[in-house]
Amino acid sequence: MPVYEYEHVSGVCENGSVFEIRQAISEPALKTCPHCGQPVKRLISLVGVSVPKTNSELRDMGFTKLVRRDDGIYENVTPRKGDSRYMERGKPGTIPNIANTITD
Ligand SMILES: [Zn+2]
Repeated sequence: MPVYEYEHVSGVCENGSVFEIRQAISEPALKTCPHCGQPVKRLISLVGVSVPKTNSELRDMGFTKLVRRDDGIYENVTPRKGDSRYMERGKPGTIPNIANTITD
């Protein structure tokens, strides 16, 4: 089953502003977040169709995925312990720490 990416129309919950979910192609698009019930919209994600990997699978494989949120602001959707959720231009402290990925 392909992975679909959804974004909260406004706000954010423990799933983050964007989350991914596996759905059959025949299933209708979600209207609300299964976690918090707020309205969500489905994002067009070709990556999810050709390479069905969730953000947590990517993280477990050692990838860091950044999603542009605003000018100079990126959300780290694969945060590891100690990582900042948002990376901001000009703020080196918000860059994901590679040392958290390399464990040996
Ligand atoms: Zn939610």
